[in-house]
Amino acid sequence: MINFNQPHLTGKEAHYMYEAVYAGKLSGNGTFTKRCQSRFEERYGFRKTLLTTSGTDALEMCAMLCDLHPGDEVIVPSYTFVSTALAFLREGAKVVFADSMTRNPNIDAETLEALITPRTRVIVPVHYAGVACDMNAIMALAQKYNLLVVEDAAQAIDSYYKPSTTSSHNGGERFAPSGENPRKGAMKPLGSIGHLAAFSFHETKNITAGGEGGLLVVNDERFIRRAEIIWEKGTNRAEFFRGEVNKYGWVDMGSSFLPSEVNAAFLWAQLENLDEIQAKRKALWNTYYERLSNTLARFAPSGENPRKEAFTLPDIPSYATNNAHMFYLVLPSLDSRTALIKYLKDNGVAAVFHYLSLHSSEFYQSRHDGRALPQCDRYADCLVRLPLFYDLKIEDVHHICDLIDTYYQSVC
Ligand SMILES: *Cc1c(COP(=O)(O)O)cnc(C)c1O
Repeated sequence: MINFNQPHLTGKEAHYMYEAVYAGKLSGNGTFTKRCQSRFEERYGFRKTLLTTSGTDALEMCAMLCDLHPGDEVIVPSYTFVSTALAFLREGAKVVFADSMTRNPNIDAETLEALITPRTRVIVPVHYAGVACDMNAIMALAQKYNLLVVEDAAQAIDSYYKPSTTSSHNGGERFAPSGENPRKGAMKPLGSIGHLAAFSFHETKNITAGGEGGLLVVNDERFIRRAEIIWEKGTNRAEFFRGEVNKYGWVDMGSSFLPSEVNAAFLWAQLENLDEIQAKRKALWNTYYERLSNTLARFAPSGENPRKEAFTLPDIPSYATNNAHMFYLVLPSLDSRTALIKYLKDNGVAAVFHYLSLHSSEFYQSRHDGRALPQCDRYADCLVRLPLFYDLKIEDVHHICDLIDTYYQSVC
């Protein structure tokens, strides 16, 4: 059986965890935590980062920092993981669901202005599959209506957005990605564009902090002080230890969002190997893309009715890069997707569907205003994810593509 996902070990994790354990300080905000945070800040130009126990926690911190009041509205995509909406709902906000684009599952920036009301406070773009949303359009709307932007960059580590000439509020352009096509020019790391951003280091993401973990990014200076306080249960401990205040107390809301040093040590091993991890994932992704493009070319020679398409391949807009977080296909119908997943399963390959749109879920249905979100429904019914993880072999990808190729030769 080829699994859908398998967590990857670089080999240094146990070593660094051992080091953390015997250093005699296991609680959060120690040496490994600081090392990871500095690496993220230096590599991607994030203004301030704080490791968290999960991506969900990082989103909850973002929601707390937005300082929402009852009746405030937050625009989120419906085709997303539940935490994108839940973090804001917990703060008493009303979530307003937006549809996805036709070309890919990201939030459709063109539909957003119609959703903005005098109560709208925040837009939360999710970079699905690590592929950038149309951030210039979203940041322009935020500026026009004085809204905050929180990037759910859970899947988007080491991925970039290529801005046009209008610059955003921070200097992300300075940070050229390693190993990307130089012709793409100045690019902004995802997570560096919104006022705030959240990453996840869950074991299903490109790098993991030992199963669970996350990162809060603060790009807007105004939120730094309060972020540190909320991170440490509402105390001003960080300022106290820096000698900026002469006593420490309980000054705000907060929770315990710090991961242990053991998790940070695990993450450090992965972070040291990030370039190698990304190179391997991209090689696997590119193999899928090339092989399945060939399958498509044979199945639907150009000029034929595109409605008869077997599937569509992942879409990477010209303003986005690919961090090889996920390889997915979009099939023409629920039935065709179910049939392909079954065929792959019968042949020893675990392929899976992804989100059930939030607006039609049991819990969020009654909180939704009833608008139809046809693209979200389509991705919920028709998207299938193929295995993609570091230890997958190129031969495995060829084997999976052979199966898909055979399948489409037999069904058409
Ligand atoms: C994984 C994920 C999260 C949640 O991250 P956890 O670390 O599992 O809490 C949130 N949003 C999106 C889009 C994700 O993919």
